[in-house]
Amino acid sequence: MPTRPPRARRPRRPSARAAAAAAASCALIAAGSACTVTTDGSARPQAASTDTVAGMPVTDGPSGPRADAPAPQVQVAGGTHGRIDTLAADAVDDLGRFWAETFPRAFHRPFTPVARFVSWDSADPQAPGPLFCGDPTDGVANAGFCLSRNEIGWDRGPLLSDLVAQYGDLAPVVVLAHEYGHVVQYQTGVRTTQAPTIVLEQQADCYAGVFLRHVAEGGSTHFTMNTTDGLESALAVLVGIRDAPDDAGFGGSEHGSAFERITAFQEGFSGSASACAELDAADVDARRVAVPLAALGAGDPAPRPVDEAVLDAVAASFAAMLSDSRLPDVRLPEPDTDDPTGGCDRSTSPATFCASTGAVAADLPALAALADGGPQGLGGDFTALSAVVSRYALAAADARGATLAGGRAALRTACTTGAWSAYLGQTSGGAATSAGGPQAGGAPRGEGLRLRPGDLDEAVAGLLDGGLIAADIDGTTVPSAFARLDAFRDGFTGGVHTCRTIYP
Ligand SMILES: [Zn+2]
Repeated sequence: MPTRPPRARRPRRPSARAAAAAAASCALIAAGSACTVTTDGSARPQAASTDTVAGMPVTDGPSGPRADAPAPQVQVAGGTHGRIDTLAADAVDDLGRFWAETFPRAFHRPFTPVARFVSWDSADPQAPGPLFCGDPTDGVANAGFCLSRNEIGWDRGPLLSDLVAQYGDLAPVVVLAHEYGHVVQYQTGVRTTQAPTIVLEQQADCYAGVFLRHVAEGGSTHFTMNTTDGLESALAVLVGIRDAPDDAGFGGSEHGSAFERITAFQEGFSGSASACAELDAADVDARRVAVPLAALGAGDPAPRPVDEAVLDAVAASFAAMLSDSRLPDVRLPEPDTDDPTGGCDRSTSPATFCASTGAVAADLPALAALADGGPQGLGGDFTALSAVVSRYALAAADARGATLAGGRAALRTACTTGAWSAYLGQTSGGAATSAGGPQAGGAPRGEGLRLRPGDLDEAVAGLLDGGLIAADIDGTTVPSAFARLDAFRDGFTGGVHTCRTIYP
């Protein structure tokens, strides 16, 4: 069945049966945030491009279903002619055609089409849905690929309709492109009973990226997607369907954290189907950096209060990062919570660096709103703290005379915020506790701030919504979400020295 116990922790070595069930599953229930950390394992030698998105032009044309597209050619058991099922049927129609052409070219063998598509409404008690994978679908708010019957099914009710409401009409395309990723993976010969679930899931995200690239290039019959807000909304779907902390962590991972999933998706979008096929357990392990157990533990930590004390800790941890990196001492201001402009003519609320006064100002109510979810409802306290850190990144850049306006400055703030996030991870010590507040579990450097489960996903949410984490002194970000994510990841992986090198 396409569900898994939402709070169960899987054994490190699942039984063949459990693994087979996992291969046929794709739990997509949005909840909390995740805790596994990956990076691409190496710093890029150069700055992320602001002119291109994985080699494609930065475009801002339409995104969503094409108005003049023909009706889909697929039959959907239990399906309706409603909007959600139409989007889903259009998506699997395009996916089937794409993989029928792409698979033989990439893997030199024929592609077996999906045998059956199934739709149900998990919220409709009056209408027991059709069987999926041989099982009842009543109340199953999920989507999945059933290996034993070669079926793909989805809940047009709460799952897809909520995702469409939140992320737009491309949401079913992303979800079903992931499911088709499992189809492809199985047909390439991945031994789904042996590969760890996290590898299977990241590989499916990678194949989803390959298909969304095809959509962005204009190859899809039913959909179009620009490489700015269209691609951003597709990436946001991956944040929205990330695993809850209880479901993730070493040995228990399902789909993985948003940070991890987006990395895999970007690899597919930038690469090829055959490159996705190479993704294996060694890659996943190699891309995992030494993140403290505290950031990987189970449990959804209580949000940090966004107050003066935590902002002081943010400032102290940023200064400690510079000093531990043996960078020249910089006098950094205390956060100013009285005047949100910091003495300038205007602010970039919720946080501001005012170059003329040297102040870093924080607008506490606006930060609290960001911590409460922000524009897409995906953010959290770490989104808010990262926004403040991005202004400290500008203060540090100003101290050495670096440019503060423009794309390079914007990406430098993302990179430096990534470096700071990794620094909080390195200073968090080894205790596998995630429940306490910033002061829990000893007194690491940086006044006790530590990286906790879900923090990186909240930073990713802030990067996607175009907020301050990747914005220059005027609050202007770069249009390519890929560039923002790449810059953050480069800082997370390579540290603050890398940011100074690639964004001088
Ligand atoms: Zn999956």
